[in-house]
Amino acid sequence: LMQLFRPLDMLGMVYRTVRQGLIDMAEMFRLIDTEAEVKDAPGAPALVVSRPSITFDNIVFGYENERTILHGLSFEVEAGSSVAIVGPSGAGKSTIARLLFRFYDPASGRILIDGQDIARVTQESLRAQIGIVPQDSVLFNDTIGYNIAYGREGADEETMVAAARAAAILPFIERLPDGFDTEVGERGLKLSGGEKQRVAIARTLVKDPPILVLDEATSALDSRTEQDILRTLKQVSEHRTTLAIAHRLSTIADSDRILVLDQGRLAETGTHAELLRKGELYAEMWARQQAEEAAVE
Ligand code: ADP
Ligand code: MG
Repeated sequence: LMQLFRPLDMLGMVYRTVRQGLIDMAEMFRLIDTEAEVKDAPGAPALVVSRPSITFDNIVFGYENERTILHGLSFEVEAGSSVAIVGPSGAGKSTIARLLFRFYDPASGRILIDGQDIARVTQESLRAQIGIVPQDSVLFNDTIGYNIAYGREGADEETMVAAARAAAILPFIERLPDGFDTEVGERGLKLSGGEKQRVAIARTLVKDPPILVLDEATSALDSRTEQDILRTLKQVSEHRTTLAIAHRLSTIADSDRILVLDQGRLAETGTHAELLRKGELYAEMWARQQAEEAAVE
């Protein structure tokens, strides 16, 4: 990431802001837009989506030249289907989400949405189609309402209340003296990881995008809240294309297809039942997690 920003003062500003955890990646890239390596091609058209399929076609990528993270990765997510990506930590799962949002360009290969190469359309039109709930949600130094409405300009109160309710953050907001107008972040109220995650989920519900990317979206929640929110996300993803990255396999077992990523390569793919029957990597991970959960109870 550091390599992206040359001017030192800009670097310092960005670093401080990110370190304070007050800003999200999209906003950060907007701030340093002129310095980012990812640029719109001259005269790039907008991405026009009627059937939001996703294709990774032989993607090779590394953050640094010496170290390849994804080694010729290919997969397809059919429009309207739900695909989960699982695998050990460091396998490259979040990297896939970052490439889809075009925070970086691959060294080779193409990423297509509805048949259009995402490197050839405007970043703005690309990002308008995708809602990401990131692994570590960070908030703007503004009101909680601003943070939720950021998903869509001019969102009305009814929409925001419905989204906050669905993300299980409404009761929390209603207990605050200033409600949606409560300042959060640096000079305001500090939210826990789980609260921030729920704000990010509410923001994505307000945005209501055709493509949903959930990167361990419920990892900071207690298991009861997680169950509630997973139900919501399941309803929301019903008619959408969903890419869900998960550590806990029980949260993605009913996906249409599961990709098991290991060290930047697809180790196996299939439905939960197919992968269990195979008795390899996924089946081992599943057995291990089931044993762990049983031990906790
Ligand atoms: P996962 O989400 O599967 O845990 P990531 O996609 O976050 O894995 O990371 C894959 C690999 O890329 C890891 O080895 C990680 O250390 C490395 N990596 C992630 N982000 C960066 C970065 N900004 N710069 C350099 N290396 C990175
Ligand atoms: Mg990750």
